[in-house]
Amino acid sequence: MTTRHHGSCLCGAVRFEVEGSFERFFLCHCSFCRKDTGSAHAANLFSTTAKLTWLTGESEVTTYHLPASRHAKSFCKTCGSALPRVAANAAALIVPAGSLESPTTIRPNAHIFVASRADWDRELETVPMLDRLPS
Ligand SMILES: [Zn+2]
Ligand SMILES: [Zn+2]
Repeated sequence: MTTRHHGSCLCGAVRFEVEGSFERFFLCHCSFCRKDTGSAHAANLFSTTAKLTWLTGESEVTTYHLPASRHAKSFCKTCGSALPRVAANAAALIVPAGSLESPTTIRPNAHIFVASRADWDRELETVPMLDRLPS
């Protein structure tokens, strides 16, 4: 059975399908990923065999390559949402976990580049967890 994953950007202009399975899932705390997500870490799924198909809005997808690094980010030109990309060496498809609507069945394999994590990124599981805005 072939696994199909579906995803989209926040504004809905871009929709895509990934056919195949993910092999690895990393939460990257490096300074580049923190800057480009505006958050504690990126959450990216990796596959060496899955195939990406843009269903709508491929012309809305752009990719920024950070000079003198291997870091890149694909995103929607309208809403800025992170979108899948093929690694520069074409060795892997990289899919931001938050861009997917289908269930993600694999758990993260590791937090990586934790030496670069934000100074506030400590023991976050001990911070109060609310189901809505604080009152
Ligand atoms: Zn969008
Ligand atoms: Zn990173």
